[in-house]
Amino acid sequence: MDFLPIFLDVRQRLAVIVGGGEVAARKAELLLEAGAAVRIVAPTLGVQLQALRDAQRIEHRAEAFTPQTLDGAVVVIAATEQRAVNAAVAAAARARGIPINAVDDLKHSDFIMPAIVDRSPVVVAVGTSGNSPVLARFVRERIETLLPPRLGRLAAFAGRWRRRVARRLETVLQRRRFWERVLSGPLASHVLEGRDEQADFELRRELKQAAQMQSLRVGEVYLIGAGPGDPDLLTLKAARLLQQADVVLYDRLVPDAIVARARRDAERVYVGKESGNHHVTQEQIHELLVQYALAGKRVCRLKGGDPFVFGRGGEELEALVRHKIPFTVVPGITAALGAAAYAGIPLTHRDHAQSVTFVTGHTRESGAPVDWHELTRPGQTVVFYMGLSQLRTIFANLIEAGAPESLPAALVAQATLPEQRVIVGTLATLAQQAEAQGVQSPALLIVGDVVKLRAVLANAPRSAPRAAVASESTRSRAQSA
Ligand code: SAH
Repeated sequence: MDFLPIFLDVRQRLAVIVGGGEVAARKAELLLEAGAAVRIVAPTLGVQLQALRDAQRIEHRAEAFTPQTLDGAVVVIAATEQRAVNAAVAAAARARGIPINAVDDLKHSDFIMPAIVDRSPVVVAVGTSGNSPVLARFVRERIETLLPPRLGRLAAFAGRWRRRVARRLETVLQRRRFWERVLSGPLASHVLEGRDEQADFELRRELKQAAQMQSLRVGEVYLIGAGPGDPDLLTLKAARLLQQADVVLYDRLVPDAIVARARRDAERVYVGKESGNHHVTQEQIHELLVQYALAGKRVCRLKGGDPFVFGRGGEELEALVRHKIPFTVVPGITAALGAAAYAGIPLTHRDHAQSVTFVTGHTRESGAPVDWHELTRPGQTVVFYMGLSQLRTIFANLIEAGAPESLPAALVAQATLPEQRVIVGTLATLAQQAEAQGVQSPALLIVGDVVKLRAVLANAPRSAPRAAVASESTRSRAQSA
């Protein structure tokens, strides 16, 4: 953008035009329309300016230009036919810090005059940065045909009500939604067709309704971790708040059986994102949460696993805080804990791992690069979320950083669900195994010596269906549960 478009208030302020011809007259009329006090500096005037002078609408200085004639001006227009004079006017204006427009002379102009569509108070200004005034006029003509002739009345109507609406509706978002509704609905037609009384009546009614809505109750948001999949892993608090919600916004990872626990009349909104193929953006989710809550709803935001573990729960809460919407966070069992328990792989063990790290395998997701050396330290377990599509890269990086190729690793797909699959291998073999078996997302990768324990734990007798360890071999039992 070469020029900054702004609308300048020149009412009762001095605008000086140097020149007395037709061009000067057109500029004078425009400035008068905008309420400026206009001074013309020119030895003689053309007929149009003479008429304005005779009507005492302009001040005429019948003299040659001198810098002093600019004193007190907020804008200056040089509209003589002599470039040298226009240049001198520009120099004098610039010396005084007054913005100057020299007609047809970009070099000596600080601002240019746009083509204008005037539906006051709605004004559309069109410019081509001085490249083609004719093109600007074409554009203006197109816009003229698009805008209803009485658009200005609509703006004036909104302006008249603006303060009262601001007093009744508290937040920017409420006001914006109110005006969006009003200006695009039947009420706007009343104004555009001159039925002002009707319009005022309807607006009063709409405003009352909107104000009541907001005072009825402020909504709130429950940010709930739904656990890794098995509905039995929902916490009691999650189940209780889910029952209270008017609206449920849920992710792809939340199984239907859990969404089904919401009240029957609750609105259910799927906001799942498939990796790489985003249906609903994170910003849209924020907006939905805010909108529902400001409309007074109790909103349940249901997320797979735990909302604060690779769940972007923090970002959603920040959006709520910005709008002063109250919230509650309910933790959920994160996928790593679910997978560990149901696959028989303890994440720590006195003999094998003294620490466990949860890390994202999705490189785009992580701000800082992964410290691969750190992850190959012995005596730890590393759990990769979102790593299925990056298996080969992950293994290559670990091996390059010094991990033995024989280090045990397991993939747990659809953890805790009846379809759970566990594939055990090593850094050298697991990618190949996973591809051969067509493992599907969601899946977790667990790396470390603890993986060896599965051989012992997964085959031990179990006390109840779906208890600690489920795997392919226990699928039918899990389903019957
Ligand atoms: N907030 C969630 C994680 C969301 S990131 C949590 O705490 O669990 C999504 C990743 O989680 C998936 O790519 C996968 O690696 C993992 N995941 C989630 N549910 C899973 C499941 N049932 N089985 C295996 N991995 C799962």
